[in-house]
Amino acid sequence: MNADPLNIENFSALQKIMAELAAIRISFYNSKGVPLSPPSDEDPVLSIITSIPEGRTEYYTFIQKSISTALAEREMKISQAPSGQYLFFIPCIVGNRSLVLVGGAFYHSIHSFHEFILRNAAKYNISYAKIDELSKGILIADHNKILRISKYVRQLFAVSVKSIYDKKIYGEKYSRTKTILSLLSNIEENVSLNYMYTSVSDMLIYLFNVDSLSFAEDVHTGITSVFPAGRMKEYLDTFFLAKNSTILSETIVTGRPVYCDDTEELRKLMLHDHITSIHIFPMFMKNTKNKFLILFNTKLETQDEEDIFEICKYMHFVENFLCLRNAYENREKVLNSLDLACSELKLTFERPDTLYRSIVETATRLSSAEKGSLLLAESDTELRVKAVYGMNEVDVQDLKIKIGEGIAGKVFEEKVPIMCHDIERDFSVKRKSKYKTSSFISLPLNVGEETIGILNLSDKISGEIFRDEDLRLLHSFADFVSIALKGSSYYSLAEEMKELSITDPLTGLYNRRYFQERLLEEIERSERYDLHCSLCIIDIDDFKLYNDTEGHLSGDGILQKVSQLVHESLRTVDVFARIGGEEFAVIMPQTDKLEAYFVAERIRNSIRERIEQTWNVYPKKNITVSSGISSSPSDGITPQKLILNADRALYRAKMKGKDRTIVWEEKEQ
Ligand code: GH3
Ligand code: MG
Ligand code: MG
Repeated sequence: MNADPLNIENFSALQKIMAELAAIRISFYNSKGVPLSPPSDEDPVLSIITSIPEGRTEYYTFIQKSISTALAEREMKISQAPSGQYLFFIPCIVGNRSLVLVGGAFYHSIHSFHEFILRNAAKYNISYAKIDELSKGILIADHNKILRISKYVRQLFAVSVKSIYDKKIYGEKYSRTKTILSLLSNIEENVSLNYMYTSVSDMLIYLFNVDSLSFAEDVHTGITSVFPAGRMKEYLDTFFLAKNSTILSETIVTGRPVYCDDTEELRKLMLHDHITSIHIFPMFMKNTKNKFLILFNTKLETQDEEDIFEICKYMHFVENFLCLRNAYENREKVLNSLDLACSELKLTFERPDTLYRSIVETATRLSSAEKGSLLLAESDTELRVKAVYGMNEVDVQDLKIKIGEGIAGKVFEEKVPIMCHDIERDFSVKRKSKYKTSSFISLPLNVGEETIGILNLSDKISGEIFRDEDLRLLHSFADFVSIALKGSSYYSLAEEMKELSITDPLTGLYNRRYFQERLLEEIERSERYDLHCSLCIIDIDDFKLYNDTEGHLSGDGILQKVSQLVHESLRTVDVFARIGGEEFAVIMPQTDKLEAYFVAERIRNSIRERIEQTWNVYPKKNITVSSGISSSPSDGITPQKLILNADRALYRAKMKGKDRTIVWEEKEQ
């Protein structure tokens, strides 16, 4: 009888690889809720919970319940553990076994982690010192991100299991596969493609006795070497294979490896004299850029060829995975750089030349372009170059362009951006030698109905063409730029610009960042003048339920209504911000605790009474809120401390039944 290829050892390997690739914690359970392999990496919060019998029971009951639901419904589930963390449960069938892949342990926010700690510090004997350490090990992701990660994990699992099963890996093959798997498991968050190429080529050379090899990429007319390795490494740097060569077209048509050691054929390819055979493996045939692995002077057994082909597919998968993850992270980076770019622009408001330069530099950086230029309308008929990046300034200093003429002139006139991949083909314009590629973006800068200039970007640093993402990003940037430019001549717009980056788009309230800055200022100010300053954190009760039953749009409406009502109850010196999904904060300068309590109560009553009956599905009457209050100096003289104590008070308000205001006291009343 054959052993099942998916044994505990494979599970541990799979678990480790998947956990590392997805940068999260993963474990496998059988249908009865028994873990199939020890955890790859212990969750710090989980360790605390399971350190006492009561916690352990509570946690494993939750795991078992979620596992049976996922199996019964045959659907992936995301559930919230007693620790407040969200885990996903993916039911899988492997051979004739049902099992569940459990992963994640994400908090939606650091706040929910704090909520857990506040609620359970005593039960689990968690000291303050420990909170800091714990918070370093926790994972934070919103619902969509969790969903996305879980989908990757499911895909990754399917591919790995399929490969193990399909090939019935035993003996030597099994150990090779293990090597491949452990190679993949070494792929970390910031791994580069280069690292993957290095590791795979080392493995091919040592494990499969490959003489020389090269990873090659498409360059329209053929493929060139991008990563040579092995004995003939130095000769392979200049390797080129034309697209119309028989061997390459066969690889492309069949999508399978092709081998050739025919002297006559090889001579036609005009390769280096030392090359006596060539074996091409397609790697990424579906992407825009085809990639290949080419082995030289190596005769493989059929099985080895299959194995290496399999590795190529794995590499494809890993590369895609990394790309997608990078794209996700990049988006975050991009948003940050956009934010930063805009704050830089704010600083240079009053000095037009610096502002122009900074706009072009930022736009080129955002789109990873080599060259950029900014043109502004100088009259009704002419545009003039105001700043350039990556080009000689003197060359273009006095360059003027007639509106309506040339590409830039047309973009300005028609107010529509152009993204072009090939200037010679699309515009019958001869490419100037100073441009490396024929790809460029030209976009108008609009303020309302008026177009004030255009921004041009050309030549991606990578040599690739511009993509939709570049255009989208530049679009958002152009909105800020337009306002900044307007601001440089009409200073009255300065305030508007500032508003843009400190307010929350849904409610128009100040955002969390601004709130934190102001809280620090207000605490410092009250300290200087020996005054009180109070902080009130307001959280809508049962809002998740509201969203779930009445819909997200309706939820958004409530958020707006609440914002408006709170606004009406405040003085102009109070700072009112939206600091989380359905959490608001009010900074009340020169206000002691008791006064703050009355303000919070006024707010609470006005929300309960003035928002009309909106719960249709669930039998609850009004929208209500709970609030927590802390004051400086008595409850803390740093923003962190004040927020923590207001949060704790809010937590007590929730515990006592919601719809109430609690003022923080060290000792609970
Ligand atoms: P509690 O009474 O304990 O505060 O329970 P809750 O359901 O209000 O608390 P929880 O923090 O679990 O849920 C907050 C919910 O707020 C989750 C999410 O559905 C909702 N939410 C967060 N941001 C937005 C938003 O921008 N729009 C809408 N419609 N809902 C949001
Ligand atoms: Mg909340
Ligand atoms: Mg709430």
